[in-house]
Amino acid sequence: MSRIEFKDVRHAYPPPAGQAPVYALKEISQVWEDGGAYALLGPSGCGKTTLLNIISGLLTPSEGSILFDGRDVTQQPTAARHIAQVFQFPVVYDTMTVFDNLAFPLRNRGMPEARATERVTEIAEMLDLSDRLHQRAAGLTADGKQKISLGRGLVREEVNAILFDEPLTVIDPHLKWQLRSKLKELHQQIGVTMIYVTHDQVEALTFADQVVVMYDGGVVQVGTPVELFNRPKHTFVGYFIGSPGMNVLPCKLENGQPVFANNLLSSGYPADADLSGKLEIGIRPEFVRFGDDGIPVEIQKVEDLGRYQVVTVKHEAEQIKMLVGEDEAIPAASPMIQFDPENLHIYRDDWVVETHNA
Ligand code: ADP
Ligand code: MG
Repeated sequence: MSRIEFKDVRHAYPPPAGQAPVYALKEISQVWEDGGAYALLGPSGCGKTTLLNIISGLLTPSEGSILFDGRDVTQQPTAARHIAQVFQFPVVYDTMTVFDNLAFPLRNRGMPEARATERVTEIAEMLDLSDRLHQRAAGLTADGKQKISLGRGLVREEVNAILFDEPLTVIDPHLKWQLRSKLKELHQQIGVTMIYVTHDQVEALTFADQVVVMYDGGVVQVGTPVELFNRPKHTFVGYFIGSPGMNVLPCKLENGQPVFANNLLSSGYPADADLSGKLEIGIRPEFVRFGDDGIPVEIQKVEDLGRYQVVTVKHEAEQIKMLVGEDEAIPAASPMIQFDPENLHIYRDDWVVETHNA
């Protein structure tokens, strides 16, 4: 097991002839503590797979270094790093049995057969593969094959970390939930560092203690699910996490204080706070309420989600989403809304402005 550290890592894939390199990863310095359960969350193309491949050594970064427990492994090959990696699509030997597939990484490293059998039996049990151990992998469904891939990632005992790259993509939705909780459980049992890549916030938030949010080749915030919800450092985090995501609305300055729709928004900003540049407010739908005064709006849409209704309202050109309890009335005439000042954030060029009460 290891603490994994990136120091000023950047990566550009070789560009087409005559073109300047484009960085798929921009300057990442980041620590994954030993034994942590991390998710790497971000949209397709933001650099998640590139980052995982740099940890495992499938890729050498263009710049920067990777340390395992303080030891520089940047130039070390995959085999020397003792990392297990589970890919998005199953990697199995079709002609081998399920048992032999699972035993492969162990036999390969010279584990005595009796101990290997013990490990394989344990892992198969966990993944509900016990009754198929002596079938050929070729006969399994995509789900079954991906479970083998997961098993091969989990079976080795002496690894520095286990990396999962969107491992549930081909798994049936009803099985997804089950496997996700199994992985979480397993992390609690074996305590090895796990990094779980996904573009799905629900997967990230249920699996991880710490979520690393990536956007456009960079890490924009690292935090617990609660921190990411309560205090998104970047507008992208607010928008990407939450359902629906945070409202991001333009605001202007009056007498040095941020104002939206003639409403003074907060007095918590230090007098010397730099509020130049593109100014926006961020307020989650959970913290927008109907009131007797406030910002006049038009109601555009009401969606009933059972316990909640998502209400879309409009003030001038701005659309605002709000979450309203199932029992709460939606005003019929001249609706007005209010923002909860405790949960309102100001962003300057997409980054949150720190307040006195933060
Ligand atoms: P993610 O896993 O988050 O979807 P990737 O790490 O696969 O993102 O890709 C990040 C960026 O690098 C994308 O713009 C992608 O097109 C580019 N990229 C990925 N792999 C290669 C490659 N082998 N050659 C050139 N560009 C690549
Ligand atoms: Mg990927």
